Amino acid sequence: MNEPGWLDDLKGLLAAHPLAERPYDKIAFVGIGPHGGPLYRVDGDASRLNARNALRRAFERFGGKCFYCDRTMGGDPKPSCTLDHLSPRKPGGGDVLYNLVLACIHCNQRKGRDELVQFSAKRAQAYLHSLADRLTRCLDTVSRDAAGPRPARRPDQAAL
Ligand SMILES: [Zn+2]
Repeated sequence: MNEPGWLDDLKGLLAAHPLAERPYDKIAFVGIGPHGGPLYRVDGDASRLNARNALRRAFERFGGKCFYCDRTMGGDPKPSCTLDHLSPRKPGGGDVLYNLVLACIHCNQRKGRDELVQFSAKRAQAYLHSLADRLTRCLDTVSRDAAGPRPARRPDQAAL
């Protein structure tokens, strides 16, 4: 059975990075890999990559700023640029795209194992606003679809 278009939109939206700035906006969700994890493609690149590698590749190609202090870190993979977990890494988890940001080594070390909101309430707000914007766009799509002509119900679909 085909899923409604909006459900695919929602899955893609939630699998993408909430931050709309570069290089995060150059990473697109392309599907689920053979091991069950999401795979991504960086704009202009044919490889299908996991979350960590996609963010690294996007930074190498498009550069980026430290999420916490806004310092530009340049387009080369430099040791001063790190991938930071907004919510500290736990055994067996945490390497999902929405939990990863680029951070300078100084901010990454200062944040340590703190949660985002403990380290910077201001950046936590910015992150949550970006997430809310994405969900609002998805809700707009759902509302538009719901207002349009409805497809005929198939016999195998029960009423909700
Ligand atoms: Zn920084």
